[in-house]
Amino acid sequence: MKSILITGANRGLGLGLVKQLAKDVKSPKYIIGTCRNIEKAKDLQEVRTQHSNVHILELDIRNTDSFPHFTEEVKNILCVDGLNVLFNNAGCASKSTRINLVKTEQFTEVFQTNLIGPVMLTKALLPLLKKAASNSPKQYCIEGGAIINMSSILGSITLNDIGGMYPYRCSKAALNMATKTLSIDLKSDGILVTSIHPGWVKTDLGGQGAPMQVNDSISQIIDLMKNLNESHNGGFYQYDGKKLEW
Ligand code: NDP
Repeated sequence: MKSILITGANRGLGLGLVKQLAKDVKSPKYIIGTCRNIEKAKDLQEVRTQHSNVHILELDIRNTDSFPHFTEEVKNILCVDGLNVLFNNAGCASKSTRINLVKTEQFTEVFQTNLIGPVMLTKALLPLLKKAASNSPKQYCIEGGAIINMSSILGSITLNDIGGMYPYRCSKAALNMATKTLSIDLKSDGILVTSIHPGWVKTDLGGQGAPMQVNDSISQIIDLMKNLNESHNGGFYQYDGKKLEW
């Protein structure tokens, strides 16, 4: 893959992905990591200092009005090339879990961040993804055009056996539906769309009780990304390649 754009790259899994891809033997020509505030994104800035193929752009995924300008910034980095991979990673969860505690504002924030933002960003970057896909001899893989949505097993309806977490679960279930729908809409363009669950990982969102480290999850996600093919199109996979039930 020549280029990848990763949202929410200043900490957690997004930062881990930028770091490992920058060190990869087949490091992409362009790794664009987004964050809400460049000044505060010290770890991401450090990676950029060490790797000239790493670029940083500011993006608040809820601010869809900024997407036309953001797309121009992406184009300026890629020059004549299209974008191979859009990795919709940025996400948030709300604290309250049970029906008696859930608030309207929590649904609004979580849906804007986990569903509306990623889908509208995909729409904005679609011409660049289509360009990369049409210029590649390979289809439905990261060397062509691919959209990877960072989902969660908590968004699986089949695997939900403990309830609660309304905004987060519902937003990821809806994101999974967007994955499936996009995979149908973009099939004729040769663009692969898939949802990935990263495992339960020690990050601010995953919490300190999580069993997996960022590096462990990310190295397996990169292996999975490299092996993505048409059979993964419109599907939901765990970090280790296991297919998950919707
Ligand atoms: P973190 O809380 O560590 O990082 C979240 C990232 O998303 C940060 O970079 C954050 O930026 C960014 N973000 C949040 N809101 C916005 C916004 N409005 N605009 C732009 N960026 C935003 O979480 P993780 O790294 O754990 O999570 C990454 C993804 O993985 C999420 O989609 C999450 O749902 C998913 N996931 C994580 C699991 C885990 O166990 N960790 C399990 C299953 C799924 P900022 O610093 O500005 O807030």
